[in-house]
Amino acid sequence: MSVWTRRCLPEKRGNILFCLIILLSSLLLAQCQTVPATGETRLSIISTVEEIRIGREADSQIRTTMGIYDHEALQDYLGVLGLKMAKVSERPDLPWSFRVLDDDVINAFAAPGGFIYVTRGILAHCNSGAELAAILGHEIGHVTAKHTVIKLSRMQLVQFALEALEQASPVGEDLGALAGVGLQLLFLKFSREDELEADELGVRYLIRIGENPRRLIEVMEMLERVSRARGGGDIPQWLSTHPSPGDRRVNLAAIIEPLDESSFNPDDRESYLRRLNGLMYGKNPREGYAEGGLFVHPDLRFQVRFPSGWGISNQKTAVFGSSPDGKAAMRINQADTDDLEKAVRGFFAPSEIAWEGTRSIDVNGNPGEIGEFVLRTDQGLFEGEALFVIYRGRIYQIVGYGGNAGWRAQRAVIHESLLSFAELTDPKALSVQPLRLEILSLRRSTSLREYYEQRGSPIGLEELALLNRIDPNREIGQGQPIKWVAAGQ
Ligand SMILES: [Zn+2]
Repeated sequence: MSVWTRRCLPEKRGNILFCLIILLSSLLLAQCQTVPATGETRLSIISTVEEIRIGREADSQIRTTMGIYDHEALQDYLGVLGLKMAKVSERPDLPWSFRVLDDDVINAFAAPGGFIYVTRGILAHCNSGAELAAILGHEIGHVTAKHTVIKLSRMQLVQFALEALEQASPVGEDLGALAGVGLQLLFLKFSREDELEADELGVRYLIRIGENPRRLIEVMEMLERVSRARGGGDIPQWLSTHPSPGDRRVNLAAIIEPLDESSFNPDDRESYLRRLNGLMYGKNPREGYAEGGLFVHPDLRFQVRFPSGWGISNQKTAVFGSSPDGKAAMRINQADTDDLEKAVRGFFAPSEIAWEGTRSIDVNGNPGEIGEFVLRTDQGLFEGEALFVIYRGRIYQIVGYGGNAGWRAQRAVIHESLLSFAELTDPKALSVQPLRLEILSLRRSTSLREYYEQRGSPIGLEELALLNRIDPNREIGQGQPIKWVAAGQ
């Protein structure tokens, strides 16, 4: 990086634009690579080794923050299907990995280096292995066309350029801001092109494994239907991060039209659905849920009462609470040690935190330490109180904090909330189970509506109709498998 900035130092101070042009063109000439999937020459200053390293790092973060779905048979199935497609791609030798994430949102994405993820939420909505393959093919396309790598290269390049500008000119900041706007537009435009390209590559890989590429269009239609049913607000992430489904469908239809669809593999709906039998559906309440301000965690057997009216957000690695005015917050997480003293020292170690020790405290029968602190940040001073409790062999850190005014107003209720940490004893909460997908074969032909009235389900008829992609009033033939959602045992 410093090599490039040095070139632009004082002697070229008068001509910043010239300097920028030299800088960009020398980088462009030096760093263009041919992308195997597209045959195009694109800027990339990231080698394959570096790309895989970035991917592995992202993979470990994704695993920790999102969690891998514990279901060996499904993971194996996804791995075999994904690898079959990756092997017919232009980058068969990447360390491809395909994982089902333990997440009920409807999503799929790829990290550089060949790390591909689908959520259990999107699996539940797919109706065949071919549809799942269509999703995987699109994601593999993002990797083989090096979309993220090229994007990252550009960001690094711009970083070089901006640093050079800052050193070369006192007005560098203005130019930098300008470059930033252009850059964002470039990225937006690029991402739409990337989507079309990933679709086209996905179609290529589907055809190579004998699957009908029309399945990709069906997946897009499914996502749009789910999005509409949710009022357009809570749109499936795969749509929101993969924009312009309308354009993409038109583009795909044009590619698929000349193909002889009879030559593709027969529909594998039935065998795919059987794999989904027992799949967790919706959020997993065993990982914690809130009810009227009381947060309970059945698996970890603890509860905390948040201050009245606070919002509660349960993430994989922590639970967050925020006051209605947004001026105070709380966080509950586990310390990465089981030594109380280490946990306390670790928490207060950053130089931005000022504290005056902690005192021992009994928290509903569990030993702990509690202490107040002041935190200096770029946004100003925050004050707060941190509680550390030993419970069932683990250390829980429960921290409340706020800006000066927010903290003063909420201090008493936050303190009370910290000390509400207790063992969860409610048998109903302790025995709660997630909903499960069941694959049923109808004994006689009937409509979804009629069957729903007989059998019932914890979810609505509309949602079941959406999952099955059938009109609830239409007659379903005897023996036809359908997706059902039932309370877990
Ligand atoms: Zn995409």
